[in-house]
Amino acid sequence: METRSPWDIENEAGLTEGNIFQGELTMDQLIFNRPVPGYAQYRAPIAGMYMCGSSTHPGGGVMGAPGANAAREILRDLRIKGFDPREEHDL
Ligand SMILES: Cc1cc2nc3c(=O)[nH]c(=O)nc-3n(C[C@H](O)[C@H](O)[C@H](O)COP(=O)(O)OP(=O)(O)OC[C@H]3O[C@@H](n4cnc5c(N)ncnc54)[C@H](O)[C@@H]3O)c2cc1C
Repeated sequence: METRSPWDIENEAGLTEGNIFQGELTMDQLIFNRPVPGYAQYRAPIAGMYMCGSSTHPGGGVMGAPGANAAREILRDLRIKGFDPREEHDL
């Protein structure tokens, strides 16, 4: 068995406060509050830039759900701009 304290994880993996989920998975930091209110739809404050990963909803874990959700938002935005990858790549 190998144990690691939050201090170890912060210093080895660079995860703030050693939190393996990049922020507690509590109601005040989930859904429309993750990473911060107003930026919970995977769109970064810079147009055309997107966020995914543990600090976006539904948070950390090896499930990849933040990435899948972010990809859906990107596709939605691309379609609004008239670009549809399915057409582009005969998908
Ligand atoms: C010790 C530990 C144990 C865990 N145990 C579990 C578990 O049992 N079950 C579970 O579901 N989850 C577990 N987790 C959580 C899970 O691993 C993470 O939530 C998940 O990997 C987060 O995925 P991510 O894509 O957000 O980030 P990451 O998996 O951290 O991926 C980010 C990637 O970006 C790269 N990167 C960083 N900066 C740059 C840069 N500037 N340019 C290019 N690349 C960059 C990094 O090298 C990394 O490969 C654990 C995490 C830790 C730390």
